[in-house]
Amino acid sequence: MSGKGKTDLIVNGKRLDGRKPEELRPVKIQAGVLKRADGSCYLEWGENKVLAAVFGPRECLPKHEQDPYRARLLYRYNMAPFSVEDRKRPGPDRRSQEISKVSREALERVVFLENFPKASIDVFVEVLQADAGTRCAGLTAASVALADAGIPMRDIVVACAAGKVDNEIVLDVNKIEDNDGQADLPIAILPRTGEVLLMQLDGILAPEEYKRALQLAVEGCMKVNELQRNALREKYEKLADAGEQKE
Ligand code: ADP
Repeated sequence: MSGKGKTDLIVNGKRLDGRKPEELRPVKIQAGVLKRADGSCYLEWGENKVLAAVFGPRECLPKHEQDPYRARLLYRYNMAPFSVEDRKRPGPDRRSQEISKVSREALERVVFLENFPKASIDVFVEVLQADAGTRCAGLTAASVALADAGIPMRDIVVACAAGKVDNEIVLDVNKIEDNDGQADLPIAILPRTGEVLLMQLDGILAPEEYKRALQLAVEGCMKVNELQRNALREKYEKLADAGEQKE
């Protein structure tokens, strides 16, 4: 987020990837893709590719982390070394720890953790390919994987970012826009109530710009939420069809 405006990022009302300012990148979501996880999701969001796996509720280990009143929620965001242009050093770093923390805090507010005392619900998000917006893609996929695992939640969390590029407020910034743009505002919400569970701002926005960016990001969230619901519906329709064929 240099904001230096090295490149023209919007030309004749179109962004470099051909999108209009208020347009999302193409999003594809598939639920139930991993055999060994209790719930899983594969999600493509533009050039981002992420896989989410959920395990649990299962025994919380190490035992001293057990909470007698509620489940522990573990969220691990990890970027594969090959997910970015220059090889990324494997393993956790400050950025992945920060993303894991804010994502976990968002999910802790929607999962009924008190239903599973002493247990652990473990969420793993693996970023296979990154092109900006991976925390939103990861959280969106994690939420589908939690629903796929049958974990009780108040609603499905969905995340999306808006930003400022060439002095214009745009939806869903990609990597070039993130590098050379002026601001990035990722949010996560509960679509049913509009409650905001995560909000971060990289860059500077004037109050009116912030309002417009927030409005765009919420609209983006609502569109992505439709795709989350479709992915879950599709998986359970397939299961129902398979069940009928067996009978
Ligand atoms: P987000 O992916 O949620 O937008 P950031 O704003 O921190 O998170 O990162 C923006 C993008 O920068 C990432 O999606 C990725 O494409 C790239 N990036 C992040 N960390 C690294 C890294 N260690 N090496 C190379 N590129 C990175």
